[in-house]
Amino acid sequence: MFQGILIEKDEQGYRAAVKDIDESVLPEGDVTINVSHSTLNYKDALAITGKGRIIRSFPMVPGIDLVGTVEQSDSDKFKVGDQVLLNGFGVGEAHSGGLAQKARLKSEWLIPLPKAFSPRQAMSIGTAGYTAMLCVLALEKNGVTPDKGEILVTGANGGVGSFAIAILAKLGYTVVASTGRVNEAEYLKKLGASEIIDRATLSEPGRPLAKERWTGAVDTVGSHTLANVCASTKYGGTVTACGLAQGMDLPASVAPFILRGVTLTGIDSVMRPTADRLEAWERLAEVLDPSVFDDISTEISLTEAMTVAEDLISGKVRGRVVVNINK
Ligand code: NAP
Repeated sequence: MFQGILIEKDEQGYRAAVKDIDESVLPEGDVTINVSHSTLNYKDALAITGKGRIIRSFPMVPGIDLVGTVEQSDSDKFKVGDQVLLNGFGVGEAHSGGLAQKARLKSEWLIPLPKAFSPRQAMSIGTAGYTAMLCVLALEKNGVTPDKGEILVTGANGGVGSFAIAILAKLGYTVVASTGRVNEAEYLKKLGASEIIDRATLSEPGRPLAKERWTGAVDTVGSHTLANVCASTKYGGTVTACGLAQGMDLPASVAPFILRGVTLTGIDSVMRPTADRLEAWERLAEVLDPSVFDDISTEISLTEAMTVAEDLISGKVRGRVVVNINK
């Protein structure tokens, strides 16, 4: 038996609880891991609260991220005692995940824990920080350089938003942060934002084209916000879309794309090939200042994760939440 969050769904309804879990719940896989740290992402909070249809079969341990030590391995890629990192690949959705003391995974989903980071730091980054880095890499690949103008980050106080600001500012970009919590301006400026705007200026239905302002954007919000961001992106600029905190819809026109040559780049972190993951984690190790982890993240226990999941869905959590599995 091991401790973890278990999500069940049967005639008694949908429920999540911290409990002792039998090893039979662990699926097939060639590597068994003693998990030390996981995180709470938006997706994990949807799974725990039952507010989104994330879990594909029951019972299931949620948690799309984990760091741990290999306990048993039938893979020639990893040996007992290795520290490994997992982000996504449907883990915590279709395959039992990181919010428990044990996980059994496929070795092709794992990468070694980067030497630059402790387990806690890697989980402070988690899928959110790794996705923020994928967005920044996409901006770079599309020729968006710091000298060309302002970059907008939406959902600024969230996990992806916070890391996007910290990474872009460190790389020399001028970052404008869009948030519903302008009272957190001090935090956002400390991360590197040079200006804070109220998200209400972007969240309502807008015109097909607006005044050109952004050279690039990291959008975590979707819906009218993403439509308005595209409409106000400068000629030849690039918008990366990775999230849906406002909504999954995209009530936009083609005008920014056919009249201003704007590029809208979709960012998926879940099924991303290993080479891209390694590139993103290497860049994170190069760019991130270690002081950022204390600014962005807080650490909680498995039990606390149950209530913090509700707060995260209500938009009350700032930055990132690391779950110390053995706390
Ligand atoms: P998070 O920590 O919960 O942050 C989301 C932020 O969005 C909130 O902090 C809030 O920022 C803003 N927000 C919330 N409700 C909103 C609303 N109704 N309208 C406008 N803004 C709203 O979540 P996260 O982990 O950063 O993830 C952000 C999004 O990216 C989620 O939709 C998540 O599912 C997605 N995501 C996708 C991938 C991928 O592979 N594509 C990977 C990671 C995350 P302010 O308080 O500052 O306004």
